[in-house]
Amino acid sequence: MLDVEALALLGDHVALDFVNTIEDRTGHHPDDTLRTPDDLYRWARRVGIEDVSPESPLGSPRDELGRVVHLRESVHAILVAFDNGHAPSYMAMQVVSDTCVEACTHRRLIGGPPSLTWAWDRPCLENVRYHVALEAASLLTDPRLMARTRLCAAELCGWFYLDHSKNNSRRWCSMRGCGTREKAKRRTVSHA
Ligand SMILES: [Zn+2]
Repeated sequence: MLDVEALALLGDHVALDFVNTIEDRTGHHPDDTLRTPDDLYRWARRVGIEDVSPESPLGSPRDELGRVVHLRESVHAILVAFDNGHAPSYMAMQVVSDTCVEACTHRRLIGGPPSLTWAWDRPCLENVRYHVALEAASLLTDPRLMARTRLCAAELCGWFYLDHSKNNSRRWCSMRGCGTREKAKRRTVSHA
């Protein structure tokens, strides 16, 4: 089982890295790296989400992890629907939408010149879910970024990433990982 600290961050967007917290998502043995509330806390620290703590004011951290996974799978379902050229399910959109509304009730503007900043009510585990929901909504509503959001072409990978290549031609989440494996597989098939 892969530890969240060893997980590759290849999405180039925090919402995509969030969806990619399952290694080999479409493989024979998907490995969910968010197994405990502590995994979630360490992932958030690793990707630089601020004002996070292991405590959950809404109840048990385990329940919060359940809400986080539900959000992650809803964002994933929307990305898969788009990748297939379909409209996403109302339920999946509702989960992201509701979490954004909830997030906005827990933050306020603070600061001074030259600009203001959003601050959460308090450091807590919920802030991870709030942060990624707002980031996911910002990605999903940005046609320019969505036009560059890709599903890795490796059959057993299932990861999403932003394709910043000049001619929009990046095919794999990582050239060294999935790219090399897929090319080796094709060579084996063509030599068989
Ligand atoms: Zn891949």
